Amino acid sequence: MSEARQSAGNLRAGDAGRGVLLKGWVARRRDLGELIFLTIRDRSGLVQVVFDKARCPAAAVAAAGQARSEDVVAIRGEVVLRGEAQKNREMPTGEIEVIAGSLEFLSRSETPPFVVEDRTNATEELRLEYRYMDLRRPAMQKNFVLRDEIAFRVRRVLHERGFLEIETPMLTRSTPEGARDFLVPSRVHPGQWYALPQSPQLFKQILMISGFERYFQLARCFRDEDLRADRQFEFTQIDLEMSFPTEEDIFDTVEAFLVEAFAAADIGVARPFRRLTFREAMETYGTDRPDLRYGLPLCDLSEAAAGTGFAPFDKALGAGGAVRGLRVPEGAGLSRKRLDELTEKAREHGAGGLLWMKKAGGEVTSPAKKGLSQDHLDRILQRAEVSDGDLLLVVADREKAVFAALAALRAEAAREMKLVDDSLHVFCWVTEFPLLGFDEENRQWFPMNHPFTGPREEDLDRLESDPGSVRARAYDVVVNGWELGSGSIRIHRADLQERVFRVLGISEAEGKERFGFLLDALKYGAPPHGGIALGLDRICAIAAGATSLRDVIAFPKTTSGICLMTKAPAAVSPHQLRELGLEPPDRRPER
Ligand code: ASP
Repeated sequence: MSEARQSAGNLRAGDAGRGVLLKGWVARRRDLGELIFLTIRDRSGLVQVVFDKARCPAAAVAAAGQARSEDVVAIRGEVVLRGEAQKNREMPTGEIEVIAGSLEFLSRSETPPFVVEDRTNATEELRLEYRYMDLRRPAMQKNFVLRDEIAFRVRRVLHERGFLEIETPMLTRSTPEGARDFLVPSRVHPGQWYALPQSPQLFKQILMISGFERYFQLARCFRDEDLRADRQFEFTQIDLEMSFPTEEDIFDTVEAFLVEAFAAADIGVARPFRRLTFREAMETYGTDRPDLRYGLPLCDLSEAAAGTGFAPFDKALGAGGAVRGLRVPEGAGLSRKRLDELTEKAREHGAGGLLWMKKAGGEVTSPAKKGLSQDHLDRILQRAEVSDGDLLLVVADREKAVFAALAALRAEAAREMKLVDDSLHVFCWVTEFPLLGFDEENRQWFPMNHPFTGPREEDLDRLESDPGSVRARAYDVVVNGWELGSGSIRIHRADLQERVFRVLGISEAEGKERFGFLLDALKYGAPPHGGIALGLDRICAIAAGATSLRDVIAFPKTTSGICLMTKAPAAVSPHQLRELGLEPPDRRPER
C-alpha cells in the first residue's frame, strides 16, 4: 500500500507534531527570500507550507523557489502550531502550518489563463474554455460536492420507498414534450433516425405497465429549444413514476426527497407544501409559478371598472378582457421615472400600458384623473383597499396580458420595496391546470403538458364539447418563483388516450405511427399510474445559491449551445457522413 496522503484542508491544531504527505496544487507562492510560503490546495481545502532556510533541507527550499501556481506537487513535512500572531482565522487550517521536509514536482503547469481562486475576474467564456481550471476553484468544488450529496439523498429516499432505478434508452423515438428533437442518423438503416429523449416519459409509463410499480431515474434529457439565458440543451431530471397513485402519494414522495435534498445545503423546507389551484395562482399572483416569499396579491377590478366610461377600461372589458390591479403598500413614494420604467415593463409583457394611482396625504394623484370621475376613482381605490401612502398599479387588457404584466410588476415591486427575504425557500404545489390550450394561429388544441396527461374525471364529458374547460390531473412544484418540476396522473386506458389524440387533431394513423407501442401496451392491462419530473440542475443551483445553472453543471454549454472546451458542435469528416448515408456539404448539389 502506498503511504497515506493527508487531505490538506482537514489539518487542525490537534494534528501538530504529525508527519504528513500532501499531494495537490500550488495555489500561491510568497517568496520572502529566507522564507517561502506555498499554499497547497486539494479537494479538501488549502493549507500553508513553510520552506524556511534555517529549518528545512536546502533541496526542499530550492525546489519551492521553482514552484509556480498550479504545479502539482508532493510535499512531506511536519504539522506545527502557528504562533498567536500568525494564526489566520479566515482559513479552516489557519491555526497550523506544515514545515516542509521535501518537495517533489509531479507535474508542472504553464502560466494559468486566470488565477484559480473563488473571486475571479475571468470572463465566463475563459472559464468555460479552461473548464478544468475553473472547476478547481474551491467554490466550484463545493457546488459539485453538494450536487453529489443531493443526488445521493434523493436516491436514498426513493430507494427506501421502494423505487427502482431503471435506465431508459438514449437512442429512441421522438417523445412529445413540445421541444425540437436532437436527431441521430442510423448507419445501419440509412435514412432512418433516432431521437435523443426529451424525457423518458413513454418508457416510464411502459415500466408501470411492465409491473415495476415504482421507478425513478436521474435522467438526461435533450431538448433542442431556443436557449434562453439559463437553459441547457441537455439537462438532468429526477424522473419518477408510480402505479396506483393518488396525487397525494406523488406529493408526499417529492416533498420527502426535497426536504432531504435542501437539508444538504442547510436549507430548511417546511412541509406540507402549500397548495394552489392554477386559477388561484393566476388570479392571486398572475403566474402559475408564484413567488410566495412575499404577499402582494393582485386584485380584480373588473367590476369596479365596469361602467366608468373610462376608455381603456371599456375597451378591455368590451373585448372580454380584464382589469386587475396590484396594490403596493407604501409605494406612493415611487418616482415618476420609476413608474415610467414599470410601464415599459408592463409593455414588455404584452400589456398595452399601465395606469397608476397614488394616495398620499389624503390626495390622489393619477393620470387617470382626467378620464375617471372622483366617484369611480374612489370605487377602484376602495376595491383595491388602497390606504394612504400606497400605490396602485392597474392593467386593463386581454386577461393573458394582464396576468403577465402584473406578475412581472409584482416581482419588481417586491424587490423595490425590499419584501424579498432571500434566506427563505417557500414551496408550493400548483394543481388543476387546464388540460389543453388553444393555438389561435393553427386553430388547434394542444396539450398544456404532454398528451398522456389524464383529464379530471368530473370534466371528462366536456372533452369534445368544451375542451378548454377540462382540467388536467397535472401538478407543478414551485419554489420562490421557479418551476422545479411538473407531472400528472396519466391516461391509462387506450380508449381515453385515443379520444384525447382525436381532440388534439392527431389522426388514428398518426397516433398509431408515433405512439402505436403505447396504445398497444395500454391494451394489455395498464395499471393507473402517474409521476413527475424535477430539474436536478435547478435544485442544485438553488441549494448552492448559484446564479447560473452553469455553476452546477460540470461541462455546460453557452447560451448559444457551444461547448467552449471541446468546441462542439463541430464538422465531421466526409467519410463519417458518407458512412451515415449523408452527403458531405461540399457535394450537395447547387440549388
Ligand atoms: N415528462 C414530463 C417532463 O419531462 C414530466 C412528467 O410528466 O412526469 O416534463
